[in-house]
Amino acid sequence: MPNGPRTGAVEGSKAPPVPGGMGDPSAASGHGPEASQVKARANAGSDPYVVTQRVLRAFDTPGVMGPAGLVESPKQADLVESPKHAGPAESPKQGGTAVDCARAKCVALTFDDGPMESTPKLLDILAARRVRATFFLIGKNAAERPELVRREYAAGHEIANHSYTHADLGHAPEEKVDAELTGTQEAIRRAIGMTPVLLRPPYGSTGKRLTSITRRMGLAQVLWTVDPLDWAVRDSRSVERRVMRSVRPGDVVLMHDIHPTTVAAVPKILDRLEEEGYVFVTVTELFGGTMTPGKVYAQR
Ligand SMILES: [Zn+2]
Repeated sequence: MPNGPRTGAVEGSKAPPVPGGMGDPSAASGHGPEASQVKARANAGSDPYVVTQRVLRAFDTPGVMGPAGLVESPKQADLVESPKHAGPAESPKQGGTAVDCARAKCVALTFDDGPMESTPKLLDILAARRVRATFFLIGKNAAERPELVRREYAAGHEIANHSYTHADLGHAPEEKVDAELTGTQEAIRRAIGMTPVLLRPPYGSTGKRLTSITRRMGLAQVLWTVDPLDWAVRDSRSVERRVMRSVRPGDVVLMHDIHPTTVAAVPKILDRLEEEGYVFVTVTELFGGTMTPGKVYAQR
């Protein structure tokens, strides 16, 4: 499997720049800059902080973070030796034992920027097929819709941090980064009693300072390898085609559950991936159950 931004980079570089909307995660145009970050990832080799790291799978550590990849507090992330919580019931399809992504064709579907009005429909679709995914939540949205966070968590999905206001964390002052991350951890903790161990920096924007802060806060940084540009291309068939054209085993697929067109694309995507023998795992499962705070992950 080639490392690096094999997928999405070409499409991302062709995407028109979308100005504005950065401060409002619910804004229709709020995700343009993420596409430019896809382009940035093409230069990952020269930028130690926008780097696609291949991570060796940790062996026999399926229970460290539990199916939802959460621990009781970031400080305990390194100390947890056994699951502090059983987590939600695992789906029969995924089985009660950890999937070995060294052998299985694993793919991690990730959904950013929710929860929003369109999220319950997606949860219905995933539940009907017993598929688990990873949700990178905007803290503000989580605070406004805690019942949806609870529903995601109860269904066995992994819950993760995507900043409080969809901020450009790689370029924000330290106090702002702290507030964005802590506020989101707090909103999620209030909703489900656990705090995430994963952060997806909006726009894929990270850097030395964010790496140091996330290390301190117990958050691994998660980017992606497949970007169907669903925020820009509001066409379900196109989203489906772009995912299927790019996906390879070990990929992290970036989508947005705030767009109904994306949600409508998911059933077909699941059907086709399943036909091709893919196994759906959470991000933490994809990387073997243990992820290092501060480290940047994109592809298994
Ligand atoms: Zn986002």
